[in-house]
Amino acid sequence: MALIVQKFGGTSVADAGRIREVAGHIAWTRQNGDEVVVVVSAMGKTTDELVRMAEDVSSVMPARELDMLLTAGERITMSLLCMALAELGVEAESFTGSQAGIITDTTHTKAKIVEVRATRLTEALSRGVVPVVAGFQGVSTTRDITTLGRGGSDTTAVALAAALAADRCEIYTDVSGVFTADPRVVPSARRLRQVSFEEMLEIAATGGRVLALRSVEFARNHHVPVHVRSSFTWEPGTWVTEEDLSMEQPIVSAVTSDVSGAKVTITGVPDRPGVAAVVFRALADNAVNLDMIVQNTSVEGMTDISFTVGRTELGAARAVAESLAAEIGAREVLVDEGIAQVSIVGAGMKTHPGVTAMMFETLAKQNINIEMISTSPIRISCVVRASSVDDAVRSLHEAFGLGG
Ligand code: ADP
Ligand code: ASP
Ligand code: MG
Repeated sequence: MALIVQKFGGTSVADAGRIREVAGHIAWTRQNGDEVVVVVSAMGKTTDELVRMAEDVSSVMPARELDMLLTAGERITMSLLCMALAELGVEAESFTGSQAGIITDTTHTKAKIVEVRATRLTEALSRGVVPVVAGFQGVSTTRDITTLGRGGSDTTAVALAAALAADRCEIYTDVSGVFTADPRVVPSARRLRQVSFEEMLEIAATGGRVLALRSVEFARNHHVPVHVRSSFTWEPGTWVTEEDLSMEQPIVSAVTSDVSGAKVTITGVPDRPGVAAVVFRALADNAVNLDMIVQNTSVEGMTDISFTVGRTELGAARAVAESLAAEIGAREVLVDEGIAQVSIVGAGMKTHPGVTAMMFETLAKQNINIEMISTSPIRISCVVRASSVDDAVRSLHEAFGLGG
């Protein structure tokens, strides 16, 4: 008998029919003799609709209240799913994040899980009851309701799997696994049978939203095998696991893209020691997460500093940059929202020279200009115009021979 955490994403529970089908799958898993803990997302686009409702009444949207509102989405699903399970004769009980023992820090809208006290879930399991947990939420160390950032139900699922020492965590979604590229952008993308935690971290961090980044960090740190699969076909999908060193590593496993960023440039920055430190300290103190950073070679003692940030943090980044520019005597602050990032990820590139050259040549052939570059041992990312990012993904996918 295995203990399995099964997480169902928004499309998987979008309406009554889907919820009944998911209940059927849970009942079937139990009939097979396995124990199940279920994690659910909000139905369909509910979270987006709740955000829109908040925007309609307020430009301020206090983060504490936004969190309280957004957690309602997952609560609807959890109770409906328990009712659908009751209909099938399966005893189930719903738990909010707080009731499930998901303790977070106090950072509203992107809280981090600091501890999982899953005693109520283990107690339910011992009574033969299926616990159904609202994903994406927890309770802070100061007892306020928090959310874990968009896509955070994946993180709830993997964190519970780790805390309960589950045998595996199954992430059910609207595609049949992790693909060599977003199948909606590249129709010929191929499903990967296995992907390592390291590669999946890079894929998730660069726009492959099929798994939330934090969930992959959790899975790697706590050695939780994750199976990403479809709740529409129920076929076996992609295993995200420890690196299998016996297998030859593909040079490039996946191509990803991210259109959620923006570029901020501070021009005419005096080029003297300590100035960059002042800039990035101020951004850090205002909780602005940076991605890429480029500093131009200085001309006549002046330089330009550019960095990219998520668009949700653009307002804060711009405000900090503008007040700093005045303070350090820089010329001006420019904001560019028309950028996107395209990345290639693959463990094999560590040992294969020439991958960068091939990426740049491919983009050049498409007449796509590269504006910024960043790399890790197993990833190369380029900032390009947002309007050409899908072409960039498709041409790289083909150039590296990833198609089916
Ligand atoms: P859920 O609501 O189930 O959490 P998400 O929308 O968060 O689903 O994630 C699934 C989506 O991720 C897919 O519909 C697909 O368009 C997108 N996606 C992006 N990159 C990839 C990839 N490399 N492999 C699979 N899906 C991807
Ligand atoms: N409902 C939340 C969101 O849309 C969390 C999730 O689905 O994982 O971001
Ligand atoms: Mg998701």
